[in-house]
Amino acid sequence: MELDETPRPAWFADARRRLIGAGRMALDALLPPRCLACGGAVETQGALCAACWQGISFLGAPCCTRCGLPFPYDAGAGVECAQCIAYPPPFDRARAVFAYDDHSRRLILAFKHADHLHGIPAFGQWLARSGAELLAEADLVAPVPLHWTRLFRRRFNQSALLAQAAVAGWRGPTVPAFAPELLIRRRRTRSQGHLTRLQRAENVRGAFAVKPGADLAGKRVLLVDDVFTTGATIEACARVLKRAGAAQVDVLTLARAMRLPTAP
Ligand SMILES: [Zn+2]
Ligand SMILES: [Zn+2]
Repeated sequence: MELDETPRPAWFADARRRLIGAGRMALDALLPPRCLACGGAVETQGALCAACWQGISFLGAPCCTRCGLPFPYDAGAGVECAQCIAYPPPFDRARAVFAYDDHSRRLILAFKHADHLHGIPAFGQWLARSGAELLAEADLVAPVPLHWTRLFRRRFNQSALLAQAAVAGWRGPTVPAFAPELLIRRRRTRSQGHLTRLQRAENVRGAFAVKPGADLAGKRVLLVDDVFTTGATIEACARVLKRAGAAQVDVLTLARAMRLPTAP
C-alpha cells in the first residue's frame, strides 16, 4: 500500500472533525441508555433508574395460590384469597411481575403507546423470573390478541411481544412453544374501567375464539398480557381455551391491579 504523502488542507481536517461530530451526535440521540419508565439517563439499555426501581412494587410469595394476590403474611401453601373462593376464576394460576400503580403505569404506558420497545428483553427476563413455575409446566405460550383494527393502528401487539420475550428469557429444561395466533379477537370491546362485573363479562362475551383447527386437548397454556386489571379479558380468553380442551390455563402479566372488583 502506498502512503499518501500529499499534505491535506486545513479545511479537510475541520470538515472531517465536524462530520464525525455530527455522526456521533446522531448516534447519541438514538442510542443513549434511557430509564424504561422516566426516560432519565441510566448506564445500560433496558434498565430502570434507581428512583424508578425503588418505586416499583415487585410481587412474589406469599400470595394467593390462584390469582397471585400478595398476602401480608405466609398463610401456608395452596391458600386462596377470599375473592378466588367467592368467584373462582376460570384460569388455574395468575402471576405478575409488579403491582399496577402510578409508578408502573408510566412504564407500561411508555411501552404500550410510545414504541419503547428497547425494554422488551428486560421485561422478558422479569416475566421469566416471576412466571418460572408457570413456564416450567406450559406447553404453549399465547398472547391476549388485539383486534386487527387496533393492531393496524398500533403496529404491534404488546402482549405478543411480551409472550415471545418471556419464552426467550426462560432458561428452564423444557421450553414451551410460542403460539402467537392461538387466540383470535373476533370483535372489538369497549374500555372496561367503569363497568360492573356483569357488564364486563357481557362486554367480552364471544369476543375471543381459539384458532380453527388448533388441538388443545390436554395442553397446558400460559396466557400473557401486559396488565391484569379487572380480569374480564383474561378470564374470557381462559374460558375459550378451557372449552377447547386445554388441561391447564395459567396467566402471566407484567402488572396487576391490587384492588380487585368485588361487586357482582
Ligand atoms: Zn426512571
Ligand atoms: Zn386469589
